[in-house]
Amino acid sequence: MQRLVIVGGGHAAAQLIRTLHKRGFDGRITLVSDENMMPYNRPVLSKEYLNGQMEEDQIYLLQAAMYEKLGVEMRLGRRVERIDRDNRSVWLDSDERLDYDQLVLATGATPRRLDLPGSRLAGIHYLKTFDDARQLRERFQPDQHLTVIGGGYIGLEIASAARKMGLEVTLLERGPRILGRVVAPEVADYFHTLHIAQGVEIRTGTELTGFDGESSVEAVTLADGGRLATDHVVIGIGVEPADRLAQQAGMDCDNGILVDAGCRTSDPAIYAIGDCARQYQTHYGRWERLESVQNCNAHAAMLVAALQQRDAPAPEIPWFWSTQYDRRLQIAGLNQGYTEVIRRGSGEACSWLYLQDGCLIACDAINRPADFLQAKKLIAAKTQMDRQRSQDPSLSLNNCAC
Ligand SMILES: Cc1cc2nc3c(=O)[nH]c(=O)nc-3n(C[C@H](O)[C@H](O)[C@H](O)COP(=O)(O)OP(=O)(O)OC[C@H]3O[C@@H](n4cnc5c(N)ncnc54)[C@H](O)[C@@H]3O)c2cc1C
Repeated sequence: MQRLVIVGGGHAAAQLIRTLHKRGFDGRITLVSDENMMPYNRPVLSKEYLNGQMEEDQIYLLQAAMYEKLGVEMRLGRRVERIDRDNRSVWLDSDERLDYDQLVLATGATPRRLDLPGSRLAGIHYLKTFDDARQLRERFQPDQHLTVIGGGYIGLEIASAARKMGLEVTLLERGPRILGRVVAPEVADYFHTLHIAQGVEIRTGTELTGFDGESSVEAVTLADGGRLATDHVVIGIGVEPADRLAQQAGMDCDNGILVDAGCRTSDPAIYAIGDCARQYQTHYGRWERLESVQNCNAHAAMLVAALQQRDAPAPEIPWFWSTQYDRRLQIAGLNQGYTEVIRRGSGEACSWLYLQDGCLIACDAINRPADFLQAKKLIAAKTQMDRQRSQDPSLSLNNCAC
């Protein structure tokens, strides 16, 4: 019987187990996760769970009975310390050895840390795990002050949840605008205005020098000499791939574990999926490491096809989402390299099309799910868009192709 060992217990691992089951895999599966919980839904941590719309019992991706039914052996609260590729085994922090026929690295990504004076004071948080989110939810009290560091999606979602909970929020961003790496300036302006209207103070171009406080944080100190009194700090300045195990084992890595279209690494017995893996995106013609649930799901399907020697499923156009206040942003495609942006609509429901030489490469849709769904297909088909018609929000996007 094939022995498949999965390292990591996040979205990618849970989806892999689900897909293996669906595809009739009859080997033995062992899952090793350094978290003490069964795989759970991470995106809700900065959204529905944080603002109290969801409870712990609703966050699990698969119920315990499912793992039992599938005969998955769970090693929770255990860390894989080393891969012994020659003997096809992994070593756990308990000194236990697990042998494998196939090993899957689903180790995800870890938050980038801010190493400044005072950064170990209590009250300074990151948001990655359920425990992190639970602590924030318990500690946040109305009228307290929260400082969010980093104007990316996670920082903005935390700001949104905290406002809902009645906290005063200041968001500090080092760059000249929020969402600097991920959206066009006009989309960033839209979210900037939205957050200001909801009472968030946003300071861009702001450099920090450290944190002040006796035992817990009392203030953030700024490079311009300023001092911002605060009760809590949450840092969201991006993540790094958890590819240390693979690197130490001498596998090919470059900002993530390099994998082929079947999620195979440079070792034929080892696969990598989810946030830790970097793969060639045929549609865009470049290597990308994606951080999304959709990417985990796609990787799980590719891996199982490779394992069963079936053709890889056709790759889907990457997509993402973010929820802030009453706005649901759905993102289709990757916008890097765009030459033009077209806006459709205004206010609570609008979208932006990213074109590269007239061809649709990405779309940010706010409360316009039809634009999002149609954009995915139009992007996949490398559609040239009619600029005039594309600006008219009353036309369906499908009717805006040249
Ligand atoms: C707050 C938050 C909000 C998000 N919102 C969205 C969203 O709205 N939409 C979206 O698409 N994506 C979102 N994401 C990203 C999404 O959650 C990730 O892309 C997804 O969870 C990646 O899953 P993964 O299984 O690859 O890795 P992870 O979820 O990072 O899981 C990897 C697991 O492996 C464990 N591990 C690592 N190394 C070892 C080891 N050596 N031994 C044992 N265990 C190990 C880690 O502790 C972790 O539990 C969000 C992420 C966060 C943190």
